[in-house]
Amino acid sequence: MDIEAFRKAGYQAIDRICDYYYLLQDRPVVPSVQPGYLLDALPDSPPEEGEDFAAIADDYQKYILPGLTHWQHPSFFAYFPTACTFEGILGDLYSTSTANPGFNWLASPACTELEMVVMDWSAKLLGLGDHFLHSSGKGGGVIQTTASELALVVVVAARERYMRMHSDTKAESLVIYTTTQTHSLGVKAGLVFGIECRALEVRAEDAYALRGATLKNALEEDQKRGKRPFILIATVGTTSSGAIDRLDEIGEVAKDHPSLWIHIDAAWAGVTLACPEYREVAQLDSINAYATSFGTNFHKWGLVNFDAALLWVKDRKDLTDALDVTPEFLRTKQGDAGTVVDFRNWHLGLGRRFRSLKVWFVLRSYGVEGFRNYIRQGIKLNEHFASLVRASPKFALVTPPSFALTVFRLTPSGPHTFTDSELNDLNRTFYARLSSRHDILLTQTVLNGVFCIRFAVGAARTQQEHVDRAWEILQREGAVAVQEFAQRKLVNVP
Ligand SMILES: *Cc1c(COP(=O)(O)O)cnc(C)c1O
Repeated sequence: MDIEAFRKAGYQAIDRICDYYYLLQDRPVVPSVQPGYLLDALPDSPPEEGEDFAAIADDYQKYILPGLTHWQHPSFFAYFPTACTFEGILGDLYSTSTANPGFNWLASPACTELEMVVMDWSAKLLGLGDHFLHSSGKGGGVIQTTASELALVVVVAARERYMRMHSDTKAESLVIYTTTQTHSLGVKAGLVFGIECRALEVRAEDAYALRGATLKNALEEDQKRGKRPFILIATVGTTSSGAIDRLDEIGEVAKDHPSLWIHIDAAWAGVTLACPEYREVAQLDSINAYATSFGTNFHKWGLVNFDAALLWVKDRKDLTDALDVTPEFLRTKQGDAGTVVDFRNWHLGLGRRFRSLKVWFVLRSYGVEGFRNYIRQGIKLNEHFASLVRASPKFALVTPPSFALTVFRLTPSGPHTFTDSELNDLNRTFYARLSSRHDILLTQTVLNGVFCIRFAVGAARTQQEHVDRAWEILQREGAVAVQEFAQRKLVNVP
């Protein structure tokens, strides 16, 4: 393809992307294709002769689009949103147009320095303390691929730091602390590094938050067992229920354990810190007082298209001490002089995508107020949904709503009193009905044995009408699920 052919195909691509967004509401959220649909449709080896690009572009429309789940659909309430903006898409387009692996400063000074700028901007947007800023000269931020990869970086840095502080440590005595509600990234880091991962218990009456006393007991137990917990992965906004660990209590306990690295995983909810009114709930003061590192995904609810997992550390040397490998061919005079940041020593790979461009585009185009208003809108829509659940005699909240997430289930009242296990059974029937639909998508979870359904707002195009329509569907499917259950179990229901 030459430049003029690219110009033509590029204009067509943008036109088709615009059409995609115009028609998105009218598409199903979930495709109706069966497993193997694409494997069967496409040839099993590449063409011998190059093909005409117009045909290739048409095949995207014909084969790929029908097999997509539309995360930007206004009726997407599953998992967590990946709110995407045109500013972000354009950032990615420019970024990929120069295919720059930006691993050190010299590989592209703009890639490194723009990332430093947007990481300081984002830290200020979220109210993070000055010690997390590049301008502090000690801390700083770096964009990683995902929260899970970010956790690997943090765990390896924490391990290295711990071993430096306690050189007598045997590798097999190391332990990673998470809670039973921590995202799978904790267990995965344990698997990758061959380190034991201990999930601390949390209770429903604490809304699934880790308490200081639980951490204190675990630390004492492990000391007796000769174990060496070196990192705690605490969460602000867990995936299952949006729980927020008690960072104030955790921080107090950790004061007696200065070699325990505290990482805060706020992959989803971290962006709420942009709004001053949510900083107390999201525990900004404790994050600033106690976190060794803090991570949040702008690619979830933060208006930046996938991927952009932002990580800040109090001490950048913790990363470079663990990850700096400099063979001769990677040496540069600026790196040797220590006058620049070489991000290759801040993450797992060598090459890295130029992600800061899309963050820059989004933050400039929205501004701080625009970003805040977007977060506020998601929370408002969720409050609206939660109020519908609260007012209904047929549904109940399982935990208090958290920011833009509501966890709820069917709890019909009437002549039949449901046991816990019957309620789970009923809700599984309910969820099976919901997930057989294509016009809406929600996901399920289990909290301390209770099967429940998550409603996560935040897709960029979701408006109140979509929430109301979702509620209608939930009520209708709920009523059918109750009838189905009654017939199956021969019980009386209203
Ligand atoms: C989504 C999520 C993750 C994982 O995010 P990836 O970027 O996909 O790895 C981790 N922790 C929490 C709390 C999340 O919500």
